[in-house]
Amino acid sequence: MNKPDVYEASDYAGLETKNAKFYYGYEQKYCKTCKEFIEPAKTCDYSHEMECCFMAAFEGIEIKIPFSTLGGTDEWDCVGNLLLGIGFILAKYHLELDTKMGVKK
Ligand SMILES: [Zn+2]
Repeated sequence: MNKPDVYEASDYAGLETKNAKFYYGYEQKYCKTCKEFIEPAKTCDYSHEMECCFMAAFEGIEIKIPFSTLGGTDEWDCVGNLLLGIGFILAKYHLELDTKMGVKK
């Protein structure tokens, strides 16, 4: 099945394809004070303020980008921040595309 899965709610949004996963929202957090990524479902040990992150996983690598680095205008515009993150990935990585690719249902 090649059709990507797109999902969103008030505090997260994501895109999953056959070979990549992109996510933005509350499950991926970054502590602004400790400057560390926080494991999903955990909080900073010192109760510092945290921010949501964009996460991309593909080709065996995982990339996380905190909201303040993404440069969005609203931390809870999850779809907008998801798109910003995907845009950064596309701008930074050379992707080999199959130009003969059609859409299979
Ligand atoms: Zn902290």
